[in-house]
Amino acid sequence: MTTPEGVTQSKSMMEVSHRLSWVARRSPGTWAAVVTVVAVLLAMGQRLVSGWAVSIVAMLFGTGALVLIWHGLRVRQANQLPARPPTPSRRVAELDFSVPEPARRVPVLADFCTICGRALSNPASRLARVGSECVKVHGPRPLSVLNPAYGEWVVSKRVAEAEAAAKQRSLDRQHDQALLLHTRDVRRWELSLETPEMVRRRLVRIEGQRLAGAGLTLTAGIAAAQLLGS
Ligand SMILES: [Zn+2]
Repeated sequence: MTTPEGVTQSKSMMEVSHRLSWVARRSPGTWAAVVTVVAVLLAMGQRLVSGWAVSIVAMLFGTGALVLIWHGLRVRQANQLPARPPTPSRRVAELDFSVPEPARRVPVLADFCTICGRALSNPASRLARVGSECVKVHGPRPLSVLNPAYGEWVVSKRVAEAEAAAKQRSLDRQHDQALLLHTRDVRRWELSLETPEMVRRRLVRIEGQRLAGAGLTLTAGIAAAQLLGS
């Protein structure tokens, strides 16, 4: 004997069993897809309805590629954050002096042999300051003096070095000034990142990263579903 209550119970049991059979009819691939979509939505949080839509469309196409493209577009926008002002680099003054160093001393050529006084014409003898006969007995007697060109060279080099040092001091002052301005610019830049629009963009960047993770999960889910289904 069945009571009206029993009939109701049996009807609801049938309904449950009918629903279970509906669940059972779904392929493993469909369930993997549903689970993946849920994972995507959880990963994205509650911020982006458009992100959800893209994920679902990606699901329909059976690929995570759209999610990745979406991620790319979002990150591209997020990357339009103002760049940090570049740190000024210290410049080094170059020494403006390229004259080769001349010899410190130069030989004094002799017109006459220092031993016998005979006139000399051979360049080697003039350098030795002794004639070809006398050199066999007495050996050479060369003489050298300080090269005036060397002294001039030393003076010009010191002048160039002093100019470079002055230029370096000037560059260093400019650099110090630039560093002060840089500190100010960085502070302004930091403040500019605190505006609502920039805060939003930074959140988008974080979301983009989450979305990329979700896209990978999606792709992995689909790959798994295809393996199970095959
Ligand atoms: Zn001689």
